[in-house]
Amino acid sequence: MRPYVTVNLAMSADGKISTREHRQVRISGPRDFGRVDILKAGQDAIVVGIGTVLADNPSLTVKSPALREDRRRAGKDEDPVRVVVDSQARTPPEADILRKGSGERIIAVSESAPGERVGLLADRATVLTAGKDRVDLVRLLRLLGERGIRKVMVEGGGTLIWGFFSRGLVDEFCTFVGPVIIGGRDAPTPADGEGFVKEGDFIPLEPPAVTECDGGVILRWKVRKTN
Ligand code: NAP
Repeated sequence: MRPYVTVNLAMSADGKISTREHRQVRISGPRDFGRVDILKAGQDAIVVGIGTVLADNPSLTVKSPALREDRRRAGKDEDPVRVVVDSQARTPPEADILRKGSGERIIAVSESAPGERVGLLADRATVLTAGKDRVDLVRLLRLLGERGIRKVMVEGGGTLIWGFFSRGLVDEFCTFVGPVIIGGRDAPTPADGEGFVKEGDFIPLEPPAVTECDGGVILRWKVRKTN
C-alpha cells in the first residue's frame, strides 16, 4: 500500500501561494504555523519540489523544541525524512534542507540526471532514482513505502502538487486561506501544471472541516474515493 499523502499549503484569499515573481510570502500567522509544525512532526516524510527549494530554500525542519523532543522520545529522528523531487539533481549542495536539522534527506532524481551532480548530492543525501526523464511519483511513493514511510506531507509548490493530484496520489488536502489578495495571473496556485480539461477528470473532495484561524480559515478536505 502506498503512503498516506497529505498536501498542505497556505494560499491567499484569491488562491495564490506566492507572488508572480515566485517570491515566498507570509500568508499565515502564528497559530497556523503551530498547526503546520504539529502536522509536520506527525509525518514520516515531507516532500517538496525542486522549484520550491530553488525559490525559498526551506529547511522543512520541525520548529517546536517540544515536538522535536517528542519525536526523539518515540525513537525517531527529530525531523521527518525530507525529500526533494528533483529530476535533474539541481538541488544546491549547500541548500538548507541538506544543512539544517537531523534525519535522512532523499533526493529523488530521474534516470537522465547528470551523473556528476548526482555524485555531489550522494555525499549529502540518499539519492533515489524513479522515472526516465522526470520523477515518476507513483514509483517514488512505492520506494518510500519500501523504506517504511507510511505518512507523507507534500509541502508544494503548485507544480509538484499538480503532479500528485493528476496521478490520483492525494488523500487529504489542507489549506490555510489567508486574509490577503496577492493577484497576478502568473502567480503560483495550489495545483498548477496542465490542469484537467474534462469535468469527469476533476478530483472530487468530501465536504471540508473548516476552522477559523489567524484571521483566515483552515480548510481540510479528504479526497473522495470513487471506487
Ligand atoms: P515546485 O512545485 O516546488 O517544483 C516543481 C518542479 O518539481 C518541476 O518543475 C520539476 O522540476 C520537479 N518535478 C519532478 N518530477 C515532477 C513531477 N512528476 N510532477 C511535478 N513536478 C515534478 O515548483 P513551483 O511550481 O515553481 O512552485 C514554487 C512556488 O511555490 C514558490 O513560489 C514557492 O514560494 C511556492 N510555495 C508556496 C507554498 C505555500 O504554502 N504558500 C508552499 C510551497 C511552495 P524538474 O523537471 O527539474 O525535476
